[in-house]
Amino acid sequence: MSYRITDECISCGACEAECKNEAISEGDTTYVIDGDKCTECVGIADGPRCKEVCPIDDCCTSDPGRNETKEQLLEKWRKLHPGEEPAAGTY
Ligand code: SF4
Repeated sequence: MSYRITDECISCGACEAECKNEAISEGDTTYVIDGDKCTECVGIADGPRCKEVCPIDDCCTSDPGRNETKEQLLEKWRKLHPGEEPAAGTY
């Protein structure tokens, strides 16, 4: 399941630099997550980094419209980072 950013976003931009998949960008009114690039930080960290740094509770939250298993998220990560190894303990 990838993450999404809700309308509660205050556009502080804290999340953008944290995303090592470059899945986050500034949208028209809020920051947005590209679900095709978000791996829920599988391969990167032991939890979603954007959620960790966001000052608003539950603004970065899982997208119920995208049901993906850990295996699918890891496969997505591998496609985004060819030749690299996922960080230990993140998948
Ligand atoms: Fe990026 Fe991780 Fe947030 Fe997904 S959960 S948008 S990969 S920081």
